[in-house]
Amino acid sequence: MSRFWSQVVRDLTPYVPGEQPKIANLIKLNTNENPFPPSPRVLAAIQAELGDDAARLRLYPDPNADLLKAAVAKRHAVSAQQVFVGNGSDEVLAHIFMALLKHDQPILFPDITYSFYPVYCGLYGVEYQTLPLADDFSINPADYCDRPNGGIIFPNPNAPTGRLLPLDAIEQMLKANPDSVVVVDEAYVDFGGETAISLVDRYDNLLVVHTLSKSRSLAGMRVGFAVGHAALIEALERVKNSFNSYPLDRLAIVAAVAAMEDEAYFAQCCHAVMATRNTLTAELTELGFEVLPSTANFIFTRHPQRDAAELAKALRERNIIVRHFKLPRIDQFLRITVGTDGECKALTDALRQITG
Ligand SMILES: *Cc1c(COP(=O)(O)O)cnc(C)c1O
Repeated sequence: MSRFWSQVVRDLTPYVPGEQPKIANLIKLNTNENPFPPSPRVLAAIQAELGDDAARLRLYPDPNADLLKAAVAKRHAVSAQQVFVGNGSDEVLAHIFMALLKHDQPILFPDITYSFYPVYCGLYGVEYQTLPLADDFSINPADYCDRPNGGIIFPNPNAPTGRLLPLDAIEQMLKANPDSVVVVDEAYVDFGGETAISLVDRYDNLLVVHTLSKSRSLAGMRVGFAVGHAALIEALERVKNSFNSYPLDRLAIVAAVAAMEDEAYFAQCCHAVMATRNTLTAELTELGFEVLPSTANFIFTRHPQRDAAELAKALRERNIIVRHFKLPRIDQFLRITVGTDGECKALTDALRQITG
C-alpha cells in the first residue's frame, strides 16, 4: 500500500495464478498445461517467421492478426468477421467484461467457477450474483432462465469441476435471455465436449471463448479467441483498439496459425489426454478417491478420509504439485491436471503410499 495508489487499485483483489516453480524434476499437475509439445509445424512456422536474421522483428505485427482470424474461421466454419483474437483468452475475457457485460443489472455465474470472473468484475466495476451449483456440482440451466441479468458467463466444461453442460441446456439459456450476452468459456471443450460455436449463427447473444493454451499446447504463447455475432466482435475490437493495437506478436500469430491448421496432431493429443484421464480416474477410484466426471484435461477429486491440503502437501514433498483451492464447498478437493501416462503413474504411486 502506498499513498500513490488509486482507489481502484486499493480495492482490487487480483487473481492468483497457479505457481510455476523453478524446481528441476518436478511433476507439474497444477495449471492444466498440455503434457505434449505443440505441433512440430509450430516450431517450423516460428523459424520461418524469424528467417535468418530475425530482421522482421523490427516491424510491428499485423494489428488485426488476419491470418489467424482466417485460420480460426476456417477451422470452425464461420466468417472472419465472427472471430476476435487476443493475448490469451484471459485478455479476450477481460475485453468481454468491459465491452459486453458491464450493464445496470448484475451478471450471473456459478458459485464455483473460474476465479478470474469476480476479479474482472472488480477491475471493471461489474456487479455480479453467483448461483450455487447443485450438490453434484452440475450447473442447473433453469437457475439462469428466470432472473433479470446483465449477462451470463460460465466455463463449459466448468472449472475446476470438469463437469460438462450439454448443448441443449445452453440453448435453453440463450432462448430465455435474448437481451443478455451469454458467454461460454470453452477452455477445455476439446477434451470430449461439444462446442457451442455451432449455435452462433442462430443466436446473436452467444459468445464462445477458446484458448490455445490447453488443447493446442501453447500456454507459453498466449493466444485465445472468441467467436460470435459480428456485432459482438465489433464491440471487442473497439475495446482492443482503445487498449493495445498489437496484442499478438509476430511469433504468436504464426505459431497459432500452424497449431490451428494441424488437425491430425491436435486430435491425436486430445485423444491421448482423454485416454490417460480415464485410466487416472479408474486408478484413483480404486484408491478410494471420489472423482467427478470430467470432460476436461484435469480431474477434480477428494478422498473421504484424507484432508485435501495435507494430501497436496504430501505430494509436494514428493515433487508432485497439484492445485488446492481454500474455498467454501471445495476445500476438500484437489484439481489434478492430466499429465503423461508416466506422470499420472507417479502420482497414483505416491497417493497409494500416502493413503496406504
Ligand atoms: C486456462 C483458462 C483460461 C485462460 O486461458 P489463457 O488463454 O491461457 O489465458 C480461461 N478460462 C478458463 C476456464 C481456463 O481454465
